[in-house]
Amino acid sequence: MSHLASNYKRRKISFKKGKGSFLFSVDGKRYLDFLSGIAVNTLGHSNPRLIKALNYQAKKVWHVSNSFQIPEGENLAKKLANRTFADKVIFVNSGAEANETAIKIARRYFFSIGKPYKNRILCIKNSFHGRTLANIFASGSKKMTEGFGPKVSGFDHFKYGDIKSLKSKITKKTAAIFFETAMGESGIKVHSKKFLRQVKKICNDKKILLILDEVQCGIGRSGKFFAYEYANVKPDIVPIAKGIGGGFPLGAVLMTKKVSICMTPGTHGSTYGGNPLAMAIGNTIMDEIFKKGFLKNVRENSKYFLGQLNNLKKKYPYVIKEIRGIGLLIGIQLKVEMGSFIDKLTKNKLLTIRAAENVVRILPPLNVKKKEIDLALKIIDKVCSDYKLQ
Ligand SMILES: *Cc1c(COP(=O)(O)O)cnc(C)c1O
Repeated sequence: MSHLASNYKRRKISFKKGKGSFLFSVDGKRYLDFLSGIAVNTLGHSNPRLIKALNYQAKKVWHVSNSFQIPEGENLAKKLANRTFADKVIFVNSGAEANETAIKIARRYFFSIGKPYKNRILCIKNSFHGRTLANIFASGSKKMTEGFGPKVSGFDHFKYGDIKSLKSKITKKTAAIFFETAMGESGIKVHSKKFLRQVKKICNDKKILLILDEVQCGIGRSGKFFAYEYANVKPDIVPIAKGIGGGFPLGAVLMTKKVSICMTPGTHGSTYGGNPLAMAIGNTIMDEIFKKGFLKNVRENSKYFLGQLNNLKKKYPYVIKEIRGIGLLIGIQLKVEMGSFIDKLTKNKLLTIRAAENVVRILPPLNVKKKEIDLALKIIDKVCSDYKLQ
């Protein structure tokens, strides 16, 4: 009997090591890892620079708490601010924690300017922001909230992609509009640039804050450092996690100076948040992502991958319904049952993960090689060919 609680449905594979885009199972098989620990292993497995940074910091100091100055954190915050809309950063440990912090900041901002009644957050129905109490009620998903009442109040919901629905839900109490710039878990749904610009205009007109959850689509995953850059909109608050730690638990909330002023000493905290070990990793990830050509390469690989997947869609119209994606956040929406399709990919040594709407999610490391994409395409082609035209 396993003493691990059964809140996860785990595949019956375990790994003894990883290298680049590959994982090696304890029974000696090699898998192409195109889920990257759910968009986490930005630079693949056992990246030499990350190993070096971790070991170097491990020999100096791991943890001191936020009662002290942390130069490595000053450094990472500066890098994030230099590369984005943000002026200020709060470090945390996970995506859910980053989102909770973002919600707190939005409410506290309006409190601090004498408008405490502005405290409601407008989110997308059936979205995903993590598993804490506030975040599951922010998601507006029946499945995630069932059995976890009483309801955490303060969240309203609009329909994905529907600007009319969004407008109809705004009231005098709306503090922030909060959604994922490109939705991962919910089925790889990418907002149009037009939609993002319309939302930004509404936020400006009505003096509402814009919080863009870039926990999954951020840190280069979209082909730009942040996915909102494609639409050229400026958010007020951006929670991040996943890719910034490359496998080490690390999250952060980025914000403008205007908003940050409300977060005075004592208003928020996190024991581990921004500890030297996590900061050493985050700094290295930033340096790698901003090396010349890195993000351009993500965009080129994305274009190639999406193009080839669309060819497979033409070849197997009775298997593939739609190819979705931005950068290396890719979804194959299927006409056949997703669970068994993912099992077949796994049997052929390609690891992927599910998303909502019968979508297989594909998240290679951002430094994936073209020949590895070709190998994945070959496996997807083979698995599709198992299905016969009904
Ligand atoms: C994964 C994810 C989260 C939650 O992150 P955790 O680190 O699991 O808490 C929040 N928002 C989005 C968009 C995510 O993809």
